[in-house]
Amino acid sequence: MSFYDIKEQILMCQDCKQKFGFMPKPVFHGKEHSKIMQIGQAPSKRVHETGRPFNDPSGAKLKYQWYQITDEIFYNEDNFYMSGMAHCFPGKHPKGGDNPPPLACANKWLAKEIEMVDNELYIIIGARAAKYLFPKESFEDLVFKNNPLNGKPAIVLPHPSPLNVRWFKTHPSFEETRVPEIREMVWDVLGIKNSEI
Ligand code: SF4
Repeated sequence: MSFYDIKEQILMCQDCKQKFGFMPKPVFHGKEHSKIMQIGQAPSKRVHETGRPFNDPSGAKLKYQWYQITDEIFYNEDNFYMSGMAHCFPGKHPKGGDNPPPLACANKWLAKEIEMVDNELYIIIGARAAKYLFPKESFEDLVFKNNPLNGKPAIVLPHPSPLNVRWFKTHPSFEETRVPEIREMVWDVLGIKNSEI
């Protein structure tokens, strides 16, 4: 099956319709040869409504504060392939926040995307996605080092959601020292020089 076929099948997937109680809307983005494969947890309600990945407060922090890149660079499909454990917004949890991403989506689609996308660098976003891809390692350890995944380097990020404020308060060194290292790796893969930003 070609990469194009996989993308078409993901776009048509309605496996979680009953579980969600509404029509699933797969949101993902990129090409087979995108330089960076970014793997999040699940699209937010705003991403579900707009159909544009990372078009929410979490995305703003990720793009403008951590990577310090423009939307033009971020949404260029040559640069980023954006996927997630779940490709659809999983609905709101009655106690607040979103429902967890359905694991079945990661097993069915993400595994195939990882196999087929010819990227140079992985960026894994959030503790759930990290646990799925690195089940034996502690999240704290993963965030502060470069990790091997599928024979390539993988960066693990805490979720940039404003709801994650407690983690940032208890781990100030992440934004002070680790984010500049991560930015350098991202810029390096994308071929960005300081003078271009
Ligand atoms: S979350 Fe994944 S498995 Fe569920 S409907 Fe969306 S694409 Fe299909």
